[in-house]
Amino acid sequence: MILDSDLARFATDFLENNGGLVDTDSDCLHALLPADLSAALDFPEEVRLGGDDYPLLYGSPILDRLVHAATTDIPVVYGAIAIPYIKKAGFDTAVAHDLSFGNGKVQIGVRAETRTSYMVITGRYIALSDERKEGLMRLTFHEPSGAIIEKFENSITDFECTYFRQDTLPPQFSNRIGASLQTALKSLQYCIAEDMAPFTASMRRRLHRDVTNTREYYRSLAEEMRVSLAHPNLSDTQRMERQQKINSLPAEAERKIADLQHKYDIRIDIRICAAERYIVNVAQLILTILYRKATRTLPVFYNPVTQRIDPLVCESCHKTTRRIFLQDSKTGFILVCPECSRA
Ligand SMILES: [Zn+2]
Repeated sequence: MILDSDLARFATDFLENNGGLVDTDSDCLHALLPADLSAALDFPEEVRLGGDDYPLLYGSPILDRLVHAATTDIPVVYGAIAIPYIKKAGFDTAVAHDLSFGNGKVQIGVRAETRTSYMVITGRYIALSDERKEGLMRLTFHEPSGAIIEKFENSITDFECTYFRQDTLPPQFSNRIGASLQTALKSLQYCIAEDMAPFTASMRRRLHRDVTNTREYYRSLAEEMRVSLAHPNLSDTQRMERQQKINSLPAEAERKIADLQHKYDIRIDIRICAAERYIVNVAQLILTILYRKATRTLPVFYNPVTQRIDPLVCESCHKTTRRIFLQDSKTGFILVCPECSRA
């Protein structure tokens, strides 16, 4: 079994941040865990994650346990959003507008009113380099699928909400959202990278400028010293010493450049600081997708908060997408994003 690199990185970071030692090889993470962490996760103190006994896969209970442990300290609020009116017609237009199924045909079947759950996560990041940058990001995902729901977190304030106490939670709040949350956290990282793009570019520009200046400085220094070698008053020893100094300049310049690279390195610390979970009444549509000789049914949701059909998740890379392509698989076909369809 080959490890998913994102899951392996997540598990390694989490275990190491909590006192574990992790040794990675191509198909397994060998971890040594301190007693409290091993008890919290219900793993042995020496564990091979990614092996047959502890598979590290999307949707696996092992991953659920890791995600649960990584997020238990986050404050969570629970609420139900009051939706005054649920859309009852016009779904053909909505589906055509919000989803595309490149090489397949779609029929809209049963529609029903149902409830589903969304989570808004608030993440804070600190980027440290020659300067410091901080930011706060909010992002919503659909809990059962992990799809990122754009603008939900902004529109939610237009609706009334009933909040629940921890001991009176309705059963719609599932505990098994580990894989979805993991997908959402990855999306949060992409958002942060986007938010930081100007900062990253500015650090890169400064590094480039300082490296160019350093090279120029050492080049002219070497040139000056070479000219001075011709001075008639220099003794043989002095000339030899000066030549040695000239010879050592390139290595000195490379050391200075390595220091600069280190100075402009960007280290990012991301913390999830809060989560809000909402139950929302939505219109569920069952789509039938026809591709070559195969058919598949697919539930999609009309989200009254964003007033759009929620996007879907690529069944290969788990990225959120509204542009779906169909790809042959052993069991018929799978739904993939544009990037995966080209791979
Ligand atoms: Zn994909």
